[in-house]
Amino acid sequence: MIHVYNTLTREKELFKPITPGKINMYVCGPTVYNYIHIGNARSSIAFDVVRRYFEYRGYDVNYVSNFTDVDDKIIKRAREQGVDEMTIANRYADAFHQDTLPLNIKPATVRSRATDVIPDIIVFVGDLIKKGYAYESEGDVYFRAKRFKGYGILAHQDLAEMEANAAGRLDDIELTRKEDPIDFAVWKSSHAEDEISWQSPWGKGRPGWHIECSVMAQKYLADTIDIHGGGIDLAFPHHTNEIAQSEARTGQTFVNYWMHNGFVNVNDEKMSKSLGNFTTVHDMLANYDDPMAIRYLLATTQYRRPINYSNDTLEQARVALDRIRTAYRNLSFRLETAVVGQDQAIENMIENQISNFESAMDDDFNTPNALASVFELVTTANTLAESRQVSLETVQHLLDTIAKLMSVFGIEDLSVQSDLTKEQSELLKSRTLARDTHDFEASDRLRQALRQLGIVVEDTPQGQRWHKA
Ligand SMILES: [Zn+2]
Repeated sequence: MIHVYNTLTREKELFKPITPGKINMYVCGPTVYNYIHIGNARSSIAFDVVRRYFEYRGYDVNYVSNFTDVDDKIIKRAREQGVDEMTIANRYADAFHQDTLPLNIKPATVRSRATDVIPDIIVFVGDLIKKGYAYESEGDVYFRAKRFKGYGILAHQDLAEMEANAAGRLDDIELTRKEDPIDFAVWKSSHAEDEISWQSPWGKGRPGWHIECSVMAQKYLADTIDIHGGGIDLAFPHHTNEIAQSEARTGQTFVNYWMHNGFVNVNDEKMSKSLGNFTTVHDMLANYDDPMAIRYLLATTQYRRPINYSNDTLEQARVALDRIRTAYRNLSFRLETAVVGQDQAIENMIENQISNFESAMDDDFNTPNALASVFELVTTANTLAESRQVSLETVQHLLDTIAKLMSVFGIEDLSVQSDLTKEQSELLKSRTLARDTHDFEASDRLRQALRQLGIVVEDTPQGQRWHKA
């Protein structure tokens, strides 16, 4: 039984899918005007872990996400660089794929761009006008926020507060066009000839930001979906407005479970360009050779809690991950020397830890508690690696279990050669062979060669082992 914390009710609720065995899930993606930052990566990884755990539990997950590829920031950047908007959007959409690949984030089932669904957006906006929820004003179309009952509930905002904030934010043009300061744009008229725009019943323009997610969730998933995710900063206004638009149009509940991930601080401060601690994934990957350690740090904190990203926390993540890799590797060596059979006491221990892992993940994806179970298995793996005699089936079962549980966190690279160069791993293979065929001369030569490449090889009564120097 999986329990999910629902931002809407502020309670952990028993998860019940609309269709048994299937999950329709929508997660807001980035605006593609720059490289994604560590906060975007955290959100992608948090919901990748949620998805992977549902898949581990046997669910078929339909995961839809978007690229916002038309908005003020993209238009501004295109102007600065003297290129068109799609050049900017294409460049950073490609960069998103390149940056998320080393972090082992599964591709969405559908990844749609706002500009792929413009005709659907125009139909959607037209329906909102027909129903009296939206109105045209000098080429813009605004949503009547107060007309939607329960506006602001998701982020627990009250109307008076929202009104005060909205009035302070508006420029003069918007103030004169809106009936009410808290109304929000679903369609924006284009201001300049050279700006990207589409023909619509309200003249040339482009969609407001919030509308694309309402349209895509409905187009690629359903009127009512199981899970909608995103960073907690999106609860208002973005998700608040998505609920209003979608439910105004269909009259149905839009989302059954709203899930929001916590912030990432950098060196204990909120990340911002003015503080000079703005961290893009592109730079992180260029300056750090173990992307799985980055993934480990971002995946093993409970998704709603804040994460502090610093050289220290990253190093701690790497050390912890290396403990798991080393245990996995050392136990793998024992496959050669194990005797056929099972060790019932250890089998029971493995089953207990699988059950603890699942209880932790069932409890709103409590990854730190789930990880504690993996470390119990790692301790057992270390003990077995040193034991005089081990049972083959149990060694294999323990290895498979550690790998399977770590793959829920998206860390699938625990294999013996995971953190080695191709040359190092070829030499290790040759040395194993030399040792097995009692070619002591070759085996000594290979040990020297490996030593020069930073790998220390030891022969133990339990077989060959190695570690980094
Ligand atoms: Zn969105």
